[in-house]
Formats: sequence, C-alpha cells, structure tokens
Amino acid sequence: MHATISPIPQSIFEAPSIDEALGLTDQWLQASLSCSEENLHNILTAMATQLKEALRQKFALQNRLRPLEATFNDARNEALCMTCGHVLTLPHVLACSHISCGTCLEGSFRALLEQRIEECVAVTSDGTTLRELLNRQPQTELAFQLALQKCGLGDDIDFTTYPSPCCGKSVSSKPVLVYGLRRICKSLQLDREKPEPPVPTFERLFLRPA
Ligand SMILES: [Zn+2]
Ligand SMILES: [Zn+2]
Repeated sequence: MHATISPIPQSIFEAPSIDEALGLTDQWLQASLSCSEENLHNILTAMATQLKEALRQKFALQNRLRPLEATFNDARNEALCMTCGHVLTLPHVLACSHISCGTCLEGSFRALLEQRIEECVAVTSDGTTLRELLNRQPQTELAFQLALQKCGLGDDIDFTTYPSPCCGKSVSSKPVLVYGLRRICKSLQLDREKPEPPVPTFERLFLRPA
C-alpha cells in the first residue's frame, strides 16, 4: 500500500532560507518517488497548477524589477568617475565643479608633484638637487616637508595650484569630500562589501597652503 503524497507542500515556499527550502524539496521528492501511479497523476496535475502560478509571479516580478533596474543603471552611469570610469569612491568636488574619486585625485596629485620636483632646477651649495635630497629622506609627509624647509630648494615649485584631472582647468583649493554623494555611491557599488580606502588629505600637493 502506497502512502498518499500531496503536491508540493506550501511549507517549501514559506521556508525561511533557500537551504531549508531545498532540503524540504528533497524530502518531498523522496516521498513522491514511492507513491502509486494514480497518486502520481494527481501530483503532476497539482504541480502544473503550482508551476503556472509561479510563472505568473515570476513575470509579474520581472515587470516590476525592470524599471528599478533601469533607474539603478541610470544612477550608476551618473556616478561614474571621469578619471577611472568606475562608480566614484570617496567623491571629491574640485574648484572647477567636477567630481572625481578621492583616490584618483590623490594619484594624479602625487604624479603632478613628482613632476614638479623633477622640474625644480635649484641645487644646494654642494650641487645636490631636490630630487636627490628627497630620495635620501624617509618618505613620510613630515620628512618631506622638513627636507623642503631645510634645503632652501623647492621655491620654484607651485604647491597651491593644479590642473583639474577632469577638465584641465587650473584650480587652487583643496578638493572637498561630498558626504551625501559618498553614501549614494557606496550603495551603487557592485562590490559593496569592499572596504573604503582612507580619506585622502592631499597633503603632498598642499604642503604650503596659500
Ligand atoms: Zn576614479
Ligand atoms: Zn573640471
């Protein structure tokens, strides 16, 4: 005598987690495999009804998600960094009104400062260049600053203006972190679990504030 097996029990659909739902499905399958032919016929009919209802729900959900997905993609496209092309990380607004990742700005500032140090023509009494002098110092901001103060070099270096990495316009104030946008951008990141890098201070370019 075969046991009477019901169609897919509602408890599967109401399981609190996917693992529990899959486990209950396996249990139901094992029980169903040993049922009578007549019972199997009833199960298949009931399953077809359940499948139709699930399909109705799936397409209804898809239709509701489509505009949300479009909105999400539009928002992401608006939040892309002009420098790296990714969703902004630590968005900073520049004096030219453009917005860039703090980390992208830091990178471009470092490169710019390196270039300006390279171009610094002055030498000390024994013929040492600023580049050579800085190479001997431990590369901390303080050591860098002290080296500049002591050696009397670097007076021809512009520490207060820089070309905006977004548009090339010459600007002279520190980029400012946009807090509200920072939160929005964080929620638009595809990899939201990735920790944020530290907020840059841009000390390297602004050693001598105007
Ligand atoms: Zn960027
Ligand atoms: Zn700009």
